[in-house]
Amino acid sequence: MIQPIDFSAFSSNYSGGNQEFSEKGLIDKIEIDTRKIQSGATALFVALDGSRQNGADFAKIAHSLKVRNFILPLKAKSNVPHLDDSNILWTENPLDALQELAKANRFQFDGPVIGITGSNGKTIVKEWLAQVLGQDVKVYKSPKSYNSQIGVALSALGIQSVHQVALLEAGISKPGEMDRLKKIIEPEIGIFTNIGSAHDENFENLETKIREKCRLFANVRFLIYRKDHALVQHFLEKTFDSDRLVSWSDVPGADYTLSVKKEKKGARILMIAPDLRTYTFATAFDDPASLENIRHVIVCSMVLGLKPEKIQAGVKLLHAVDMRLTLKSGIRQCLLIDDSYNNDLAGLEIALEFMSQQRTPSGRKILILSEMVQEGNEELMAQKISGLVSHYQIDLLVGVGQLFLRYKNFFSPQCLFFSGNSEVLAGIEKLNLDRDLILVKGARKFQFEDIIRLLEAEVHETVLEINLNALRHNFNFYKTLLSPDIKIMVMVKAFAYGGGAAEIANHLQQIGADYLAVAYIDEGVYLRQKGVTLPVMVMNPDTRYLDLIQEYKLEPVIYSLRSLEGLSSLALNQSEELPIHLELDTGMRRLGMAEEDLKDLLTHLEQHPQIKIKGIFTHLAGADEAIHEEFTLTQLTRFRELSDSIMNRLPARPIRHALNSAGIVRFPDQAFDMVRLGIGLHGVEVNQLEQNKLEAVATLKTVVSQVKKVRKGESIGYGRQGRMQQDGEIAILAIGYADGYDRRFGNGNAFVMVRGKKAWTIGNICMDMCMVDVSGLQVKEGDEVILFGKGPSLQYLAAQIGAIPYELLTGIGMRVKRNYILD
Ligand SMILES: *Cc1c(COP(=O)(O)O)cnc(C)c1O
Repeated sequence: MIQPIDFSAFSSNYSGGNQEFSEKGLIDKIEIDTRKIQSGATALFVALDGSRQNGADFAKIAHSLKVRNFILPLKAKSNVPHLDDSNILWTENPLDALQELAKANRFQFDGPVIGITGSNGKTIVKEWLAQVLGQDVKVYKSPKSYNSQIGVALSALGIQSVHQVALLEAGISKPGEMDRLKKIIEPEIGIFTNIGSAHDENFENLETKIREKCRLFANVRFLIYRKDHALVQHFLEKTFDSDRLVSWSDVPGADYTLSVKKEKKGARILMIAPDLRTYTFATAFDDPASLENIRHVIVCSMVLGLKPEKIQAGVKLLHAVDMRLTLKSGIRQCLLIDDSYNNDLAGLEIALEFMSQQRTPSGRKILILSEMVQEGNEELMAQKISGLVSHYQIDLLVGVGQLFLRYKNFFSPQCLFFSGNSEVLAGIEKLNLDRDLILVKGARKFQFEDIIRLLEAEVHETVLEINLNALRHNFNFYKTLLSPDIKIMVMVKAFAYGGGAAEIANHLQQIGADYLAVAYIDEGVYLRQKGVTLPVMVMNPDTRYLDLIQEYKLEPVIYSLRSLEGLSSLALNQSEELPIHLELDTGMRRLGMAEEDLKDLLTHLEQHPQIKIKGIFTHLAGADEAIHEEFTLTQLTRFRELSDSIMNRLPARPIRHALNSAGIVRFPDQAFDMVRLGIGLHGVEVNQLEQNKLEAVATLKTVVSQVKKVRKGESIGYGRQGRMQQDGEIAILAIGYADGYDRRFGNGNAFVMVRGKKAWTIGNICMDMCMVDVSGLQVKEGDEVILFGKGPSLQYLAAQIGAIPYELLTGIGMRVKRNYILD
């Protein structure tokens, strides 16, 4: 929801384009994705070019959804069909125009705008500051981490007249980007969180990066920063007048001194203000990053003139910010989407979109939603929520809070309303849960984490977290290596490399994969039962089960004359077309047809016209190693020749494919029509050439079950293999080889991350547990432990034990719960 704007007035004043029509164009919503349009009448559709498609192609769809206001690229003018009675701004660059519009809205706002940038902590500082300031005033903040060129524009358009202060974050990855963001945000107060190493490759050096980020602050009245980073301090002091700089530090010498005293639980922050008064703030956090973020929040609140007592009260209540949506399994075979941290309309829409991507053929879609705070007009809010509920076809809305009780008549009579979370907990039976998909989304103060706890399936505490953003990033990376017309088949065999076939396949469907492949028929059946609609190739089908193949619309691979004959004898009396893929063996010496079989094959196919070759492929044996380059090229040439000769005899052109992940990186110009992406999607670049372009997708986590003091010389675990070299402490972790933590990791062959530090294994790995040395790390029971992902990489761990990353991923036990997250 944005502040209503007269678009026709804007477009006639906009210098970067020319416009058609000039009807009244009051808009209160920006749409950049036609799939999300609900009520087009008051929306503005901005055609931004995506990687895949041209935004202008969607103008017509938007028009059919009643959109009458458009920003469209000039270059598409001749292709876009006539759009009746519409108000169109044609411009070279629609993003520029969108940003101008955002700027116009931001400058209507006369409250203070706080601009936040830096390498880490932007979103958390923004969220926490909003919580602290929100005690007194109506705060607007960028949704989630909307900090990109598009994100900032959309954020700035959300500022409304009811708000009293606006918090906008800005993120850049390349030089030149900040100037554009600065023009939109134009903050009065700036917060520079810190400088780190993200996107280093795009900046000459650290100072360039600092300079670039600080362009956001060119016109601020006050710039808040931490003085302890020498380069940051040096740069800011030479760039900004000293009366604009507000510094803080652990140690005396800055405007605010904020020292930290760790407590048994959490920490105490002692502040000496510029007037030398002292204050203390208690917090439950004790890690350095959170303590830095909190101190930025404190200083900014002081600068804004908030009373210290208010700040103290606010800081005490801060909770961990988890901006991520998490998909988990729930009780009674439900699936749970946990977004219990905060609630605003933009976030609700993102969550509903994520929900609509999950397919649950059997159950209902249930939304448990709290009322929103800080959003202005309640009636309008109720109306918007009710619009979203019907657009996303929610079967049951459970509304929590006074807003729902007051505006009951906006919602269908089936909806359930409660005044608070304890009423929901008491009344949960009324929901009759059974295989439903449930989105739980609530503002902080409603404490919906209690509801999540009740609905979550009981499991042991080892989880494999699959980051769907990273998955998408990797997918897009491989796409950029290929010319745009090349299709992508993703290998989701072996439970999608351990990550969870249905969820990953569903997400791939969303992000534009063209094909899926599994090893066996039952894997394909499972995908179909989970609602996956992409074509699915089955590599090693038992052709006796033709009925399953047909019922579930799977596409079998034929790799021998025998398998073809088996299939065709069963298909003999059927009229239905049977699509197959032909595998040619060009040197792998695994499944696949040899040249001498091809003559019989073609004859056979001519006699069975209902069998249609949809694809022809081969598999490379050594695409990941330069020493096999010649062999690989021979395989590819051979494939071309053999497939050419087959295709000459076929009525229709099949899809040809040969490259696996390694092959895409090394031979992108030999992609034929499609590639088969596997391990690369999971963030492992087996050639080790482009590893830094990929992101880790799977993180294996567990918890510390117990911490023990042990003496020098004591033995640890089975066979008494572990020995303490010094007096110290060990932690017992809730994971063992039955979960897929390989036994060879024992005895110091691997480390885990706990409290941000390395802890090496000690003694043998047991079936369900293992021990790590945590001497001096101040580890506590219940601490989170990362076994791989953000800690040790899959490649490192595999190399430690003479394995390959594929084995580690596919070896994760089925009892390990998979959670899916979307940032
Ligand atoms: C598993 C598999 C792939 C994918 O291999 P990666 O190395 O994971 O990219 C491609 N093609 C076939 C035939 C496969 O079996």
